[in-house]
Amino acid sequence: MRALILGGTAEARALAARLVDAGWHVTSSLAGRVSEPRLPVGHVRIGGFGGPAGLTRWLLADATEVFIDATHPFAERISASAAEAARATGLPLVALHRPAWEPVRGDEWLEVADMAAAAELARTRFATPFLTIGRQQLSHFAADDEGRYLIRCVEQPTGPLPRNRTVLLTRGPFDVAGERKLMRDYAVDCLVTKNSGGAQTYAKIEAARDLRKPVIMVQRPELPGKGIAYVADTVDRAFDAVTRGRV
Ligand code: NAP
Repeated sequence: MRALILGGTAEARALAARLVDAGWHVTSSLAGRVSEPRLPVGHVRIGGFGGPAGLTRWLLADATEVFIDATHPFAERISASAAEAARATGLPLVALHRPAWEPVRGDEWLEVADMAAAAELARTRFATPFLTIGRQQLSHFAADDEGRYLIRCVEQPTGPLPRNRTVLLTRGPFDVAGERKLMRDYAVDCLVTKNSGGAQTYAKIEAARDLRKPVIMVQRPELPGKGIAYVADTVDRAFDAVTRGRV
């Protein structure tokens, strides 16, 4: 079988590996945001498709039989494109979508709808926020001339940034002890994060809980309502769904 996996996540790489092992012809697609991406096994293509029409053309030219959106829960545009291309081609789209984190006892979450609201809260309520939101939306925080920001991302940010800042360029995984130490060393007074879900980046949430630091939690966008045939919350469920012909 020929599959296209829209990737850029650990789950996408895990699913590609399982399907390649099962003898499938798998192409993983990456946006090309980072210069040295972690590459999945199988075939890899890199770069945008040119919107839903371009993605539709790609699927038809490839004769894709199984189409999986395993992108990050905050990658809204490519997921909307995938749903539209699925409708245009008639291919059943499987969305591999990890569940959101839920607060547990000891968490102090300040939930906000988007990054603009997170920035406003950080500016008005906190002095030393720790931003773990990637590098694409940092400009929301740039207007704050007073706060001291700790910013962690994989590659050097290019847009406007808050004036007082320390930028740490590093890629996870991170463990809870390391996250606690970092938050203490920089005396951060809140953590700012997207509700990405999954185990990979959860250590910072546990560290914030241990240190009784508030978390400004940006809620995730909705999945596209139409065009998805099946939502799988784990790699195993996505694998079962596509290999047992459930979609
Ligand atoms: P986005 O805003 O939804 O996508 C913007 C554009 O980038 C899309 O319209 C598409 O261009 C292209 N694109 C995105 N993902 C692609 C993919 N897997 N393959 C080919 N083209 C892709 O996405 P984003 O939030 O910038 O995320 C980009 C990638 O990073 C995604 O693959 C995502 O899984 C990964 N990622 C994102 C986050 C996050 O917090 N957003 C975190 C970790 C990993 P065209 O319209 O030209 O097709």
